[in-house]
Amino acid sequence: MIDLDVAIVGGGFSGSAVAAQLARHAPDGFSVRIFEPSELGRGAAYGTRHAEHLLNTRAAGMSMFPDDPEHFVRWLGRRADRAAFVPRRLYGDYVAEIARRALERPHFRLVNGRVRAIRRSGRGFVVESAAGSRIEARAVVLATGNALPADHFLPAEVTAHPGYVGDPWRYDYRSVGGHVLLIGSGLTALDVLVALRASGHRGIVHIISRHGRYPAVHADVAPYDVIPALDARDARSVLRGFRRHVAEACLRGFDWRSVVDAVRPESESIWRRLPPLERRRFERHLRTHWERHRHRAPEQVDAVRDVYARSGKAITYAGRLAALQRGCARIALNDGTTVTLRPDWIVNCSGVGGVRVMARDPLIEGMLADGIVSAETRGLGLRTTWELASIDASGTPVEGLWIVGPPVRGSRFEATAVPELRVMAELAASEILASLRGNTAPMSLAAQA
Ligand SMILES: Cc1cc2nc3c(=O)[nH]c(=O)nc-3n(C[C@H](O)[C@H](O)[C@H](O)COP(=O)(O)OP(=O)(O)OC[C@H]3O[C@@H](n4cnc5c(N)ncnc54)[C@H](O)[C@@H]3O)c2cc1C
Repeated sequence: MIDLDVAIVGGGFSGSAVAAQLARHAPDGFSVRIFEPSELGRGAAYGTRHAEHLLNTRAAGMSMFPDDPEHFVRWLGRRADRAAFVPRRLYGDYVAEIARRALERPHFRLVNGRVRAIRRSGRGFVVESAAGSRIEARAVVLATGNALPADHFLPAEVTAHPGYVGDPWRYDYRSVGGHVLLIGSGLTALDVLVALRASGHRGIVHIISRHGRYPAVHADVAPYDVIPALDARDARSVLRGFRRHVAEACLRGFDWRSVVDAVRPESESIWRRLPPLERRRFERHLRTHWERHRHRAPEQVDAVRDVYARSGKAITYAGRLAALQRGCARIALNDGTTVTLRPDWIVNCSGVGGVRVMARDPLIEGMLADGIVSAETRGLGLRTTWELASIDASGTPVEGLWIVGPPVRGSRFEATAVPELRVMAELAASEILASLRGNTAPMSLAAQA
């Protein structure tokens, strides 16, 4: 017997946002369970152990609801500053509160536990928790978040190093000292520097990445007054059009950041219009540049990096970690020279992992093996339709199984940040309600559960 309308697997931002949308729009008697083994509403981003970690988006851009952009700013009340980069833990308080409000609706419940397996059953899905309980739901939302950074490209000894940190987002850096090697120079590396500085770290930080570049930095800029129309015939045309807009905007006194921000809401539609071969070209040649300019660091965060660099306590290398032998790291620099050092700690800041890492969770491993989810061609994430329905191993959309958030990387152009995730959550909720509406099964049955 079907017990439930919707099981939401993961209660971070995405799962909470789907629950909030369902709480707003679902008919009476509708039943939802959120499965979350950790703290509700926080996930990797907003569950950081360091109060100094800031959002990298201004408060004005962080509402959970696309149709109410000022929601988060209003929630901040007396602390409200639309332009501020507020602490991530505070943002986690906001998400958790919205999730808890959704759970006040009758038949909306939280299950404090991990999901171990999801299998198709007659008219829905059996959701099995790690504790062994089973529940049958008409629909499932997979919202399991960011996979840990990949480590398969690292020399084998790295993950066995006693100071290896494979989960850079949840780590408590107060115990970290001496020589620290960061692999990657993106926003995560900057977060590590912020946490180390706040924890009184006195050693040297060595930062290595392919290009040795850091994310661009936010600035207080006027919004661009044009919605840039870009020719999406091919990747080259997109780049050319973008450059033309930047040149014109700069002549009129705007900053390049304003043009990036104006293009961002259009990026998904530009992406969809690009032919598949051109998408791949964009990924290969332009994605990194786009991300560096689009995922920007707050000025305060970049200032910490600057202090480290000026005092000689942070050294940046453009190259790769070629080997780690008996605790000695050999860095092959792009100019052909080599540097050796003996790190006490090695932190993997190389970015969100793909399906290979996701499949370390028995839940995803099992779903891939059963074929109810499948990897998109580059292995960045799982395949979905534009409406976020999972696509199975045979290429067919799976009725009743939706995927929201970072696991759809690759199927969507942007699947990381709140401005895109809140739109996904709204879309998934409306698709779920449309698909379950009119079905005979269990909204009312669930009321008894
Ligand atoms: C360090 C960091 C900082 C970020 N900062 C920003 C920012 O400033 N602004 C911005 O817009 N975006 C930011 N992001 C992007 C971030 O991806 C989103 O904002 C958002 O947090 C993603 O939410 P999510 O719910 O999809 O994933 P998560 O927040 O990771 O939540 C997924 C949840 O699923 C649960 N889960 C996993 N597996 C299972 C299972 N088998 N069973 C049950 N539950 C499970 C986990 O416990 C977790 O709570 C940041 C990301 C990171 C990693």
